[in-house]
Amino acid sequence: NNQTELLRRKLEISVRGDNVPEPVLSFSSCNLPQRLLQNLEASGYEMPTPVQMQAIPAALTGQSMLVSAETGSGKTASFLVPIVSHCTKLKNNPQKPLAMVLEPTRELCIQVEEQAKLLGKGLPFKTALVVGGDAMAGQVYRIQQGVSMIVGTPGRLIDLLAKHDFELDSISILVLDEVDCMIERGFREQVMQIFWALSQPQVLMFSATVSKEVEKVASSMVKDFSVISVGKPNK
Ligand code: ADP
Ligand code: MG
Repeated sequence: NNQTELLRRKLEISVRGDNVPEPVLSFSSCNLPQRLLQNLEASGYEMPTPVQMQAIPAALTGQSMLVSAETGSGKTASFLVPIVSHCTKLKNNPQKPLAMVLEPTRELCIQVEEQAKLLGKGLPFKTALVVGGDAMAGQVYRIQQGVSMIVGTPGRLIDLLAKHDFELDSISILVLDEVDCMIERGFREQVMQIFWALSQPQVLMFSATVSKEVEKVASSMVKDFSVISVGKPNK
């Protein structure tokens, strides 16, 4: 409606797709677990950033989406908040992986896992890191002990999946963070391979920029996805 349009214009949010709910102005209007709200506050997140205002309620509906917003705009919590919420609202005990996050670099994986730990504090939400540079055996063991979310780089994840037969059917959310960067680094095939190993997950794609290539990857995975762009279009 008109009010939603006005709010989006004010926040510099543009949306493509029919089922994107209106932006929220606070985390507390998202029906999130109480402990997650406390963890957000403890992290100094008083208010959602514009990308969070739109992407969090949209992700919570279960739709797949391609979200573009500049670096530093708060994209990480845009997917971690819905993931923590989803994983802790379901009875997931012993923990099975419900979400998988792909990042182009080891450093980004580590940062995302750190933020996930803060947001999941005090909740039944364990994470596993699957990156190069550390022994794979420890990573495998960690997953076998029960985790809700796996964060990794595409190459290392493929290696691990080739050697170990993990049950991945439980994964219902796949995040492709920095998709533009993953494509540039030549991870496209590996990302597709991981996608095909899953059972039609909701796909949340994040990018600083949206190119034809990024849209192509998105459409090769999901027929219907919303497009959310925040800020002045760049490039
Ligand atoms: P992006 O992935 O879009 O580049 P990040 O998710 O890494 O951005 O966030 C950039 C910085 O902003 C981080 O230091 C993060 O902790 C902080 N941040 C994110 N969301 C909020 C918020 N709602 N309130 C305060 N700080 C935030
Ligand atoms: Mg980011």
